Amino acid sequence: MKKIIARAMLLAAALALTAACQTNAGAKSAAQPHNVVIFVADGLRYGSINPQDTPGFAAVRDGGVDFANSHSLYPTVTTVNGSAIATGHYIGDTGNFGNQIFAGDTMRKTDWSRVAGLENDATLKEMNERFGGNYLNEESLLAAARAKGYSVAALGKTGPAAIQDVTRLDTPGGIIIDDNFGGPDGAPPPADLMDAIKAVGISTAQPPRAMPGAPQLQWMTDITAKVLLPRFKAEGKPFAIVIWSPEPDATQHAQQDSKGTLTPGINGPTSMAALKTASEALARIRAALEEQGLAGTTDVFVTADHGFSTVSKESKTSATMAMKFRDFPEGEMPQGFLAIDLTKALNWNLFDTNGLDVALDQGLAPRRGSAMIGPDFEHPHVVIGATGGTDQIWLPESDAATLAPRIVEFLTTQDYTAAIFVNDALGPIPGAVPMSAVGLKGTALTPQPAITVSFRSWSTGCAVPTQCAVEIADTNWRTGGGIHGALHRGDTRNFMAAIGPDFKKRFVNSAPVSNADIAPTMAHILGLDIPAKGALKGRVITEALKGGAKVKTVPGVRRSAPAANGFVTVLDYQSVGAQEYYDAAGAPGRAVGLRTEEERGAIEKARK
Ligand SMILES: [Zn+2]
Repeated sequence: MKKIIARAMLLAAALALTAACQTNAGAKSAAQPHNVVIFVADGLRYGSINPQDTPGFAAVRDGGVDFANSHSLYPTVTTVNGSAIATGHYIGDTGNFGNQIFAGDTMRKTDWSRVAGLENDATLKEMNERFGGNYLNEESLLAAARAKGYSVAALGKTGPAAIQDVTRLDTPGGIIIDDNFGGPDGAPPPADLMDAIKAVGISTAQPPRAMPGAPQLQWMTDITAKVLLPRFKAEGKPFAIVIWSPEPDATQHAQQDSKGTLTPGINGPTSMAALKTASEALARIRAALEEQGLAGTTDVFVTADHGFSTVSKESKTSATMAMKFRDFPEGEMPQGFLAIDLTKALNWNLFDTNGLDVALDQGLAPRRGSAMIGPDFEHPHVVIGATGGTDQIWLPESDAATLAPRIVEFLTTQDYTAAIFVNDALGPIPGAVPMSAVGLKGTALTPQPAITVSFRSWSTGCAVPTQCAVEIADTNWRTGGGIHGALHRGDTRNFMAAIGPDFKKRFVNSAPVSNADIAPTMAHILGLDIPAKGALKGRVITEALKGGAKVKTVPGVRRSAPAANGFVTVLDYQSVGAQEYYDAAGAPGRAVGLRTEEERGAIEKARK
């Protein structure tokens, strides 16, 4: 009965909102849709913002909508969330399962690897060629806007910038400005753009990368302010711009404030400087909108692809702890620890993703953590894509139904394992939750992983645990560096806020939202109807728009059957209507932000 009433209320709210939207649309039918700017601050945590240190972000949050229940999609890494921000679909549909994904056959045009590193334009082009012209299999917001004749541009970090308009990477028309701008790997710029940039005294060559990235961000915001905004204003059409700031991510990863220790970790002075850099870039974009007289007609959505954690490389169970590695001090697991452990457990051979042997006896480890395992490199039985706090495992040339339970059983014995997910096609496996439970099972064209493992996390004991999360990670960064990728609240709690003519003012939204909700919301503002192939679509964040009614949030829990040793994966999530938002997952005590058993019991009771 409760359920029926809740449904009826939701339906009524939806109907009321549709009516409100129609009235709005009617009222401004003479005017054109508003413009949208999406500013992505890579790796910006929700709790990192305050008016003193990061006034640019605080101004949007405090003056517009504060998304206090924000979510990165899982795995919590850049290109995964880049694909969701671009298309408004969950990862089961976009197939962008990690920053490094098994691509089937060898990538012949790029690095001869069987694992594609997606933060690379040449790789993205080859992925498009291999997977139907658009490896994401869904139309992006920018592509839809462009098709309607609107002005569009994507700027910023190589990989996620091009992913915003990935079908345009090979052809002129759209504007993509990343590290490859003007080069052979980059998107061909419109004929007059280079001259327009030079004409206002800006170099067409990117400034060299520096920490914390101020010169590069200054260059990008200069181009936006002095070239793109005036150009788009003159074109007189609605425009959509995505700006992907590489900061604070790059600095939080690489900072050396915390060598070999977990504090201050990613909260040291170097990371703080990167937050300031990103905040200033956003403030400059907003000032430029004011200068051009566009602030009143432009909605600005600020998000981060994911949260962040400090790296730990400790373990008491990994076989790598008894081995010596050239690039890691004793007591730290190297990148590729999972591949090495699995190689030993399965008694096969270990190969780098380009087929070369990994010389473990010489202290080497798989180059980027990703690796292939099997009797020989041409027939890998196991392919691992290392994605920091999560590893994806494909079982391409093997009897997956037999091998998967063996691997899951092995994972349940390791102290670095928090949560295990298995492809629904393999049936239930004790200790693991099905992948569909975290939005990883849809219409993807790329090979689907068989097993996903999220590594263990904990907090060092600060007031807001998500601000001092630590996680075990399959990464080249050492203990004390920064990382993300796992399914815990430190990594899922990204910064999200929005401001502009269509958004409520000074509104705190407590309903869950995610990076998959941005494209549908911005498409709604732009009056675009983007066709979908898959059903794993985000929602229009109606409650944050002017006149939008409150939505109902329902908490949820999923648990696996216990493995032979008692290991259980628990998944805590929330939902709004059909939309699910994943907070944290893991065996109890192994993930930051997991609910208590009491809270979980109450939720399960209420849902019955
Ligand atoms: Zn990162």
